[in-house]
Amino acid sequence: MSEEEKKEIRSCFMCHRTEDQAGKLLLLPGGITVCGDCMQKSFDAMDNPQIRSMLNLQNLTNMQNFPDMGMFRMDGADVKAQEKAPEKAQKKEDARKAVRPVFDINDLPAPHRIKAALDEYVIGQEYAKKVISVAVYNHYKRVRTNTNSLDEIEIEKSNMLMIGPTGSGKTYLVRTLSRLLDVPLAIADATALTEAGYIGDDVESVLSKLLAAAGNDVEKAQTGIVFIDEIDKLAKKQNTNQRDVSGESVQQGLLKLLEGAEVEVPVGATSKSAMVPMTTIHTKDILFICGGAFPGLEDIITRRLTRSQRMGFGSNLKDAYTSDPDILTRVRTEDLREFGMIPEFIGRLPMVFALRKLDKDMLVRILKEPKNAILRQYQKLLDLDEVKLEFDDGALEAIAEQALERDTGARALRSVIEEFMLDIMYEIPKDDNIGQVLITRAYIEHTGGPVITMRGAQTPLLRDTGMTDA
Ligand code: ADP
Repeated sequence: MSEEEKKEIRSCFMCHRTEDQAGKLLLLPGGITVCGDCMQKSFDAMDNPQIRSMLNLQNLTNMQNFPDMGMFRMDGADVKAQEKAPEKAQKKEDARKAVRPVFDINDLPAPHRIKAALDEYVIGQEYAKKVISVAVYNHYKRVRTNTNSLDEIEIEKSNMLMIGPTGSGKTYLVRTLSRLLDVPLAIADATALTEAGYIGDDVESVLSKLLAAAGNDVEKAQTGIVFIDEIDKLAKKQNTNQRDVSGESVQQGLLKLLEGAEVEVPVGATSKSAMVPMTTIHTKDILFICGGAFPGLEDIITRRLTRSQRMGFGSNLKDAYTSDPDILTRVRTEDLREFGMIPEFIGRLPMVFALRKLDKDMLVRILKEPKNAILRQYQKLLDLDEVKLEFDDGALEAIAEQALERDTGARALRSVIEEFMLDIMYEIPKDDNIGQVLITRAYIEHTGGPVITMRGAQTPLLRDTGMTDA
């Protein structure tokens, strides 16, 4: 065969595409030819800390040292990402420490004790916490009994669907739960998921995330929790003539995971490639929790309720339902179907419940009551400088009011606080004599300064610390 002919039939050793399909092939030692895509994927995998540790590549920090590989070197951003990795790991570790595991999933206490533990962190949302405690208790009881034989009564999976406006604590609830139980947690965004074969993460990538969260321990991953947020974005589009089936087919794709299936997943990467080792994960004991805001669901529920009670005083009822802040708690599967979720999908999420939109009182409580409340965090920081930080009731209300205006639930609290705490954290350590700082409504509303008390003084001394905006 001539040299010319040999060149013609050369194909990538990994993906088997020919040069025509994959672009110029690279010749590696030993006569192996690889396309640029597969080469890049392999390098990406090697850049992953987990793969590096598996392959014992920790010392391989600079790929540019490899002959002929410099041109594939990931740019500076990747190097930065690597440098940031320990910082990220530290942050994760700190977050883990914030909620200590208190339960053992092999010996779970009764649901009321699980709820009591959640109460320490999650404010309000009583019904949701109750449902989740019972579901988790049943789920891990089921995992423990592990009924496989046909003549035994098989307990169904307690996968959940959590409905609630943005910032109402859906992710926080799941995160707290996973830490209390000390089980790995993977959080995925439904909008990023695609059908297998399309660009994006396929549905199975959520399992790779879970495996990574479990430190590549398959057994641990198999009893973990997967939280899929923004699930409402997968709904079939209503009133449209366009053919848009992508969300629907992702719902289809998730079905087998929700129910229980054996899935091959790459270890240490979210996409499959020939260089990445694979492992099998059984999803039957993984607890799936889906969450979403489901905008417009209130109207669907109201319509159903008024339809069923139309006789005579329908319009009054409609008004009553429209102003009911807890209308979402009356959700039924038929409403979700009308919203655009496919029946098989809803069928695999037997526990459906709603979280309440947070009101001012709840926001004030969130500020100060949770074990790791944001105010406590700032108090602790200033405490290290031996300065006592206090907030009066007016200040807390003002913060909550400003957060409400932003309409992103409790998420807005942190940004409101950070805006004014910057000055405090900057100015206070300047003066060693300051013993106490009291934040007032006036300070939050930029009409006055904080009340400062000097060390050893009985009465506050109003000083100009440069912190008033007025
Ligand atoms: P969602 O997932 O519903 O959009 P998150 O769970 O991300 O909202 O909430 C954002 C932040 O607000 C959380 O990190 C948490 O600090 C706080 N938060 C929300 N709801 C509560 C709550 N009920 N109790 C305590 N903190 C809460």
